[in-house]
Amino acid sequence: MPLENEGSGFADVALRDAIRQGLVEGPRMLVATRGIATVGAYHPFGTSPDVKDLPTGAQFVSGVEEARRAAREQLGQGVDLLKVYADWATPTLTVDELRVIIGEVHKAKRKVAVHAMTPEGIRNALAAGADSIEHGHNADRAALELIRQKGVFLVPTVGILEALVDRAPDAAMRTRFVARLAGAGRR
Ligand SMILES: [Zn+2]
Repeated sequence: MPLENEGSGFADVALRDAIRQGLVEGPRMLVATRGIATVGAYHPFGTSPDVKDLPTGAQFVSGVEEARRAAREQLGQGVDLLKVYADWATPTLTVDELRVIIGEVHKAKRKVAVHAMTPEGIRNALAAGADSIEHGHNADRAALELIRQKGVFLVPTVGILEALVDRAPDAAMRTRFVARLAGAGRR
C-alpha cells in the first residue's frame, strides 16, 4: 500500500487496475495517488513557480476550496485512501483545510492518513478527524496521549528511519536520524 506516489500522477491507479484485470502480475494494491500538501511545503523545493506542469511529490493547495478540490479530484481518479501533510518542519495545512479534505473523503467511505511529525501538526490532524497519524516522530507526551484517547492509529514508520541512519552521509545527519529513531521508540 504505497502512501503517495511522488510525482507519478495517477500511475498507481493504472497499475492497481491492470493487476486487478490480470493484465500484469502484482500484489493487491490500495493506492493513495498524489498526496496533498500546502504550496511550498513539499518536494520539489527550490524550483521556480513559473515552471508549469512540473511533476510534484504531492498536489499543492492553498485554502479550503483548493483543498476540497484536490480531495475531490483524487477521489474521482479512484484513490483508495488519501495521504495529506499536516506539517513539514512546521505545521502546514490548517485545521479547516484538513477538515474539508477529511470530510470529502469520509463521505466517500474512504480514509485519510495524515503525515504529522510535530505536536501541533498531530493535534490539528486529530481535531480534523484523521484516521491515522503517519510518523509522529517528534510527538510529545500530550500528543501521544491524544492519539490514544481518540483511538487513532499511529504508524511510526521506523523502517525509513533505520534506512536513513544506515545511509546518512555524515556524522551530524546520522546523529539527527538516531535521535529521531529514539523519539519513534527504537534504540
Ligand atoms: Zn509522510
